[in-house]
Amino acid sequence: MVLVSACLLGEAVRYDGRSQRSEKVLAALEGKEVVPLCPEVGSGLPIPRPPVDLSGGTGVDVWAGHARALEREARVDRTEDFQRGARLALAATRRFGITVALLKEKSPSCGSQRVYESGTLRPGEGITTALLRAEGVTVLSDEDL
Ligand code: SF4
Repeated sequence: MVLVSACLLGEAVRYDGRSQRSEKVLAALEGKEVVPLCPEVGSGLPIPRPPVDLSGGTGVDVWAGHARALEREARVDRTEDFQRGARLALAATRRFGITVALLKEKSPSCGSQRVYESGTLRPGEGITTALLRAEGVTVLSDEDL
């Protein structure tokens, strides 16, 4: 069983109201049991919603208290929302005994190799990915396929 970013499966849950459906992801998951999840929508944020960038560091730094998740334009602090969504993802892995997640690259929640920090793409992981990895879940990205 695999936890998967819902947007990769075709669900229109992105901040801009679109999906990020990936035929490559769908093909890789064929025959596998899938738990779709969007941490940001799960946290209660709407669709669409303002885009958010990490600020002051990446997902690991957020959990250490050194970085925040801020709306790109208005600079509204969404850190607690994103952390709530990450905890929801972790709870889903525990509930279903999931040890592997396939998440969307570059997202401030789901990124696993690169994320936007203060408007610049840099190495690092999103808030959900950082929590899942800290708890022993293997996180792969759609770009690993
Ligand atoms: S939070 Fe994750 S699942 Fe939700 S839209 Fe962003 S990348 Fe997709």
